[in-house]
Amino acid sequence: MRAGRVPRLRRDTHAEKKSSLRYILAMLEPIYLDHAATTPVRPEVREAMEPFFGPRFGNPSSMHRWGREARVALDEARERVAACLGARTDEVCFTSGGTESDNLAVLGAWRSRRVAGRNAVVSTPIEHKAVLGAVHQAGREGAEERLCAMTSDCVVDIDAFGQLVGEDVTIASVMWVNNEVGTIQPIGELAATANERGVLFHTDAVQAFGKLTIDAAAVPFDFLTISGHKIGAPKGCGAIFVRRGTVIEPLFHGGTQDRGRRPGTENVAMAVGLARAAELALAERTEECHRLTSLRERLEREILEQVPEAVIHGRAVRRAPHISSISVPGTESESMLMALDLQGIACSAGSACQSGSVTPSHVLTACGVRPDIANAAIRMSLGSLTTDAAIDRVAQVFPALVRKARGQPPASRPEPVGA
Ligand SMILES: *Cc1c(COP(=O)(O)O)cnc(C)c1O
Repeated sequence: MRAGRVPRLRRDTHAEKKSSLRYILAMLEPIYLDHAATTPVRPEVREAMEPFFGPRFGNPSSMHRWGREARVALDEARERVAACLGARTDEVCFTSGGTESDNLAVLGAWRSRRVAGRNAVVSTPIEHKAVLGAVHQAGREGAEERLCAMTSDCVVDIDAFGQLVGEDVTIASVMWVNNEVGTIQPIGELAATANERGVLFHTDAVQAFGKLTIDAAAVPFDFLTISGHKIGAPKGCGAIFVRRGTVIEPLFHGGTQDRGRRPGTENVAMAVGLARAAELALAERTEECHRLTSLRERLEREILEQVPEAVIHGRAVRRAPHISSISVPGTESESMLMALDLQGIACSAGSACQSGSVTPSHVLTACGVRPDIANAAIRMSLGSLTTDAAIDRVAQVFPALVRKARGQPPASRPEPVGA
């Protein structure tokens, strides 16, 4: 008797919740499921930045009181970002975002380290275009480009990586969490392998920061990229970790700011915003990851229950908690995205930079996914705006849109009495 009572009690509570006005209103609101593309600026971040658009406008290189005040704010921001990465203060360099940090790492290392006999650059085919573009640029400058093989689960093949990373390599770059599928790459092992062979190692941790433990004291990467707008800071700010003693060729030339690694008057407001966002992300990490994991699990479970043939990429391996990449055979991502948008649900096909173009995701293709399945991929990425009500609504709408896309009748409803 007692065993039967518990679920009934739970069902009642859930029904009650579902009939509340707040819940019904939440079901009508537009749903943002694209946190891997960008996130809203957090009010705390905005507040921290505000004074630097007003009275605290000084140039950190100036000697006077305005300058000194800006310098103090910048130094503090650097210290706080460093603390979030397990780094020393002088190992953090502020940039305009993930793309610049990725370019600075790959091209900066390649240009400063290239010598006869050490002219290869290693990366993976699932990287963000910022890394792939930098690797191709190195190629145009004479580098031999080597992309590592992937498993069908969208994880780097460690043995293949070991074979590519020899003493003829300047730098290897492998992302920590893939932005389309969410799979976690074995960065500890890869960085150690590169390290043993005297090869510099960069990791794009844009999607990993705030989700996984990142500790520069524990993992031997030489460079690490983070981006502000993926963690609640504005677009156009980021940072790169450069391990002490590692020389890189700057992308820009001019002043001596940031030890010459990044000349140009520092964006103090952005540095302060990034520091605040990074601290908040870390403070909330454990709880937020639990929340997102259970929301995503429920979303995937409910979609699979109604559309059993749906393919959830990387589901068999470790993934960061905020990304779900789903392909339903017989559908096509462009029209599904439009149909979802009409229902007020914002998702993306792979990465944001690719949406609008019909080419299938380079990530899924590189992992051996069939072209028709790759062409059907929908990325749903969860974050601060994702609520229980949002997941309920997506779990309800998505299967209905799938049936419509395939020309199937809507899910059967009980016949009205007497009909
Ligand atoms: C968004 C993103 C970038 C680019 O960062 P920006 O700050 O937008 O330039 C790089 N790598 C990954 C994995 C990303 O998700």
